Amino acid sequence: MELEFYGATQGVTGSCHILRANGHTILLDCGMIQGTKQAEAYNKSPFPFKTKEIDAVVLSHAHIDHSGRLPLMVKLGYKGPIYTQNATKDLCDILFQDAAGLAQRDAEYQNKKLRKRGKKETIEPLYDKRDAKIAFERMQGFRYRQKHEILPGISVCFQDAGHILGSAMVELWLTEDGITKKLVFSGDIGQYDTPILNDPTEIHEADYVIMESTYGNRLHRDRDLTAQEIGEIISSARHDKGNILIPAFSIGRTQEVLYMLGTHYNEWELDRWEVFLDSPMAIEASKVYWDYPHLYDEEATRLRRQIHEMPKLQNLHLSQSVEDSQAINRLKSGAIIIAGSGMCNGGRIVHHLKYNVSRRECHVIIVGYQAYGTLGRRLVNGEETIRIHGDEYFVRAQIHTVGGLSAHADQKDLLRWAGGFKPRPQFFVVHGEDESKLAFNHLLIDQLGAKSMIPEAQQIVKLN
Ligand SMILES: [Zn+2]
Ligand SMILES: [Zn+2]
Repeated sequence: MELEFYGATQGVTGSCHILRANGHTILLDCGMIQGTKQAEAYNKSPFPFKTKEIDAVVLSHAHIDHSGRLPLMVKLGYKGPIYTQNATKDLCDILFQDAAGLAQRDAEYQNKKLRKRGKKETIEPLYDKRDAKIAFERMQGFRYRQKHEILPGISVCFQDAGHILGSAMVELWLTEDGITKKLVFSGDIGQYDTPILNDPTEIHEADYVIMESTYGNRLHRDRDLTAQEIGEIISSARHDKGNILIPAFSIGRTQEVLYMLGTHYNEWELDRWEVFLDSPMAIEASKVYWDYPHLYDEEATRLRRQIHEMPKLQNLHLSQSVEDSQAINRLKSGAIIIAGSGMCNGGRIVHHLKYNVSRRECHVIIVGYQAYGTLGRRLVNGEETIRIHGDEYFVRAQIHTVGGLSAHADQKDLLRWAGGFKPRPQFFVVHGEDESKLAFNHLLIDQLGAKSMIPEAQQIVKLN
């Protein structure tokens, strides 16, 4: 039995690990790398394994940095199953199509540039919509809390991670030569008391735990204070007569922001605003959210019963077409614009930034994690100018980083979850920038008295 750490060992994105047990090879996640152009170029590099050697893929959740290279695996000849939670499967259908569309458009753009320079070579997209469809068809959805034997000697069970809809911590029981070891793959761990979703499930037994550490060195602001802060930003933006931009991941953040706006509609006087959800993918993903009410937490379930649906904004506009999106640019004030991508490294939010980022009266609310090298990270870092589509823009809008809305558990929550295991398992700390991993690894050793290590990329660890 062995684990080979491959992705999300240097940074947060590109989650992917290889598990070998009882003669089988299983891939845990197969995510896209996100960040700088150089880092993203790595998505095209070959896998460190032969796709045909993989017997099964187990996917923790839909986020593209965990799932996005699955259509590429299919394109390269992977014919096996992809096991995941039901809602994740539905979300991946939307995500894969979107990622394929982006890859195709990107390749077309590159090819146009090559032809202009008189070059004959052509660039192939990372994968196309057909690969995306086949990858989706390979997916087999399971419910939470049900144990399934996926290969002889290997069983899995998905537990609610409370991170996004369908997100799971994966329990794996591995039996080899009559000995069973239990591995838990944390995926991404949600915050406790997050809107809509349940708290992360506490798991008590494991021999080994692969654990994320995105916020392993930081604490989030209290959720009530965060709500209060957003309320204050909205009121000062109204006073300033500007717009509010909220870059948000289409899956997860967007639905939570909408839910929060819905539950605080009167308190935040949102009738004075027009709210735009400017993202066809986020609109699709929101529909999946509304399709799975049995996965909601108590509050969302109660609200849903009271008004027969999720708290809904009366002045919410769903912008599907490019024309709808461009029309928003004519509004100089009174618009709350929610658009992707979540880290501002593409998508419609970039266009809205062009129109608003140099205006003092405008506000940008950052609600999610911003990876190193992304435009969002530059905004968070307070850079005075940013480059968009080759042009320089002064950052005069007010940038607010609202930590309490993160989809990830903070240091305290991570430690709480890790402390649920008794006796202490061996931890492998992944999915974090160096400082977070180091800090959290220390805590696991010092405070919990657990064995813990930070695996290197391509490091192989024997489980026995
Ligand atoms: Zn995630
Ligand atoms: Zn992640």
